[in-house]
Amino acid sequence: MKLYVLDNGKQTTDKNSLVSNSTFPTIDNLNPGYIWLDIPTHTFLIDHPDGYILFDTACDPDWKKNWVVSMQKLSPYTASEVQLLPNRLKQLGISPADIRTVIMSHLHVDHAGCLYMFKNATVYVDDAEFTNVVRQYSLGEAMFAHMQSDIEHFLAAKLHWRPMMADEDILEVAKGVKILRTGPGHSFGMQSMHVTLPSGKQFLMVADAMYMPENVTPKVTVPGNVYDTMGYKRTVRYLLGYAQKTGAQILYGHDMVQFKSLVKSTEGCYE
Ligand SMILES: [Zn+2]
Repeated sequence: MKLYVLDNGKQTTDKNSLVSNSTFPTIDNLNPGYIWLDIPTHTFLIDHPDGYILFDTACDPDWKKNWVVSMQKLSPYTASEVQLLPNRLKQLGISPADIRTVIMSHLHVDHAGCLYMFKNATVYVDDAEFTNVVRQYSLGEAMFAHMQSDIEHFLAAKLHWRPMMADEDILEVAKGVKILRTGPGHSFGMQSMHVTLPSGKQFLMVADAMYMPENVTPKVTVPGNVYDTMGYKRTVRYLLGYAQKTGAQILYGHDMVQFKSLVKSTEGCYE
């Protein structure tokens, strides 16, 4: 069993969308400006004896054509050809058709962009995330970080969905790989992945439940974009406790400092 970290490029955005009130006006400074940040867009591949497992699917390679203009301006995506998810898999000798399991942290634009490519996989997603996203799309309601084009693509692909229901908190999908369904918070329904490697090394991929350490310390600070504030804080407390109890290392959703320290699929893997 091997774990690969796939570098799928980066997005650029104002830090306030990641950590609320990173900058804010005061009577002495009405224009505090912004902090324009590069944040990593990445996915995780597990080469498991039971078949390949993928955690999240990065952005749509055709984002410039498919994303609504507001998202293109708010958080533009940059990826070289080799960084695009299908090409990252190809470099490892794998095609999307080979992936047996996809675990979705949630269905936001930077996580569900290539989901439609995994037609042979069982796709684990929080039931509330799936139903609310499809509902909003079907009713033509305004959406923010869920992208209409992603939804059209993954619905048209007729994927093998496996919704995680409200009574399923932890599910071991393969030996050493657990889904933690943590409910509403950053989005309608969030999931993390807990991986225990043969070496004993453990990782907890929390995705956007914690973008970066500043969402957690010195206190819980919600992102600018959050669906359920109290759910967000509850989820952070739960995941911090889970990581402490198990000894798993938390891998943040969009922390460039931590991401740079990880071994990428072009360099090696974790075993
Ligand atoms: Zn998100």
